[in-house]
Amino acid sequence: MSLRPLKRLRKRVGFRMTLWYATLFVLSSLLLFALAYLLLFSSIREKDREMIQSKIDEYALQYEASGLEAVLSEVRLERSSNEQAGFFVRVADPHNRTLFLTLPPRWKGLNLKEVEAQSATADEDSWILSRRRGDEEILEIATGRLPGGYAVQVGRGSGERDRLLEYFREVFIGIMIPVILVGFAGGSFLALRALRPIRDLIQTVRSIDTGKMDARVPSIQTGDELDELVQLFNGMLEKIQTLIAGMQAALDNVAHDLRTPMTRLRGVIETALQSECEEAALREALMDGAEELERIVTMLNTLMDISEAETGTMKLDLQEVNLVSLVGEVAELYQYVAEDKGIGMAIALPDELCARVDPNRTRQVIANLLDNAIKYTPSGGRVEIEACRKADDEAMISIRDTGAGIPPHDLPKIFDRLYRGDKSRSHRGLGLGLSLVRAVVYAHKGRIEVESHTGQGSQFVLFLPADRHAPL
Ligand code: ADP
Repeated sequence: MSLRPLKRLRKRVGFRMTLWYATLFVLSSLLLFALAYLLLFSSIREKDREMIQSKIDEYALQYEASGLEAVLSEVRLERSSNEQAGFFVRVADPHNRTLFLTLPPRWKGLNLKEVEAQSATADEDSWILSRRRGDEEILEIATGRLPGGYAVQVGRGSGERDRLLEYFREVFIGIMIPVILVGFAGGSFLALRALRPIRDLIQTVRSIDTGKMDARVPSIQTGDELDELVQLFNGMLEKIQTLIAGMQAALDNVAHDLRTPMTRLRGVIETALQSECEEAALREALMDGAEELERIVTMLNTLMDISEAETGTMKLDLQEVNLVSLVGEVAELYQYVAEDKGIGMAIALPDELCARVDPNRTRQVIANLLDNAIKYTPSGGRVEIEACRKADDEAMISIRDTGAGIPPHDLPKIFDRLYRGDKSRSHRGLGLGLSLVRAVVYAHKGRIEVESHTGQGSQFVLFLPADRHAPL
């Protein structure tokens, strides 16, 4: 017969739990039985010994009151009742010679010589234990020393006690079979209940493996560790699914957004190939091609930067930077663009504002926000830049414009990769500026907030970790 199914069963946690539970259950039942057995054994033996002792005390009192003859006539009188009750009675003189003996019929054949020999040295606290040859039953004899050197001995067999204990053992053996069954039944019930969430978990993972991404582990609502594991697992699946959906959407967008410059590039190449090899036309075609390629490279580089910042692999050159000079530099660059477009620019900066940031990345973030503010604000509008210490550990930079504003339905999507508002399509752009801003700000452990009203303008507010020790 193959042992493989048995080996497979042994590897199952449920089976091992059942086995452990049943073993512990049976062992504790055995321990309980052993304790009960010991208690019963010692209490009935104590009772037997008390009975023997009280008989000796009775004879001793009689001796004290009326002398040896009274004791002898008493034991003679009780002979038949003692025989029936199974009591061994012996009265001995100071030379250990037997004056009287009651020997119940079941003790005929007892080695009396041996009992007499042990009696010579026995004191009141010791027990003489004797048994007939080939018999299990023990005769327990106590000795009472009487004044004048006489001795009275009373004994009783352990047969009755042995039979009671044997009955107890038999009952226990009868009980043990159901106890083992209950142990296994209880163990498998517990294992089934305890492992249910794990089985559900396995089932869910199997379903996901076969492509059912929306499979979830049914909640058990018990509030215990397994319930917590189930909740965490479901939460993790939810996050993974959102992430995968986001990646798929981003990939679709990339493919879609790459198609236009690629098609344009192909068009430029085809036109150049069909032209009459005029140097000027070919040069122009090459320049157009290079421009399209530049756009593609910028898009791919920005996408790489975003994913590096989001996954935490972006290398940030963190240092104490005075944001006032950094913002001032970028604002100065954009001042000319704003002037060209007829947009007024107001800058309100404190004397010093230190933060622990990567200066180049922070410059890129502010440039992107300023670029958008100027891009989406029509001529005659205004852009305001402000910076200050917000809390003990935060530096704030705000860029506000009086431009077109962002429609409420667009607001939740503006930070998504390659997302561009409908009205923004007429402006240059890749739809990656804000995604990069947010990813870089998060990589700095900062945050970004936006408030916008259509037709009135937008405000982007950056919060960056400040240098705690710098003056407020
Ligand atoms: P884009 O290259 O389109 O500017 P961004 O990621 O920088 O991409 O911005 C995403 C979208 O958010 C823009 O297409 C535009 O619709 C909107 N947006 C961003 N900044 C502003 C702003 N200051 N005013 C109005 N709309 C803005």
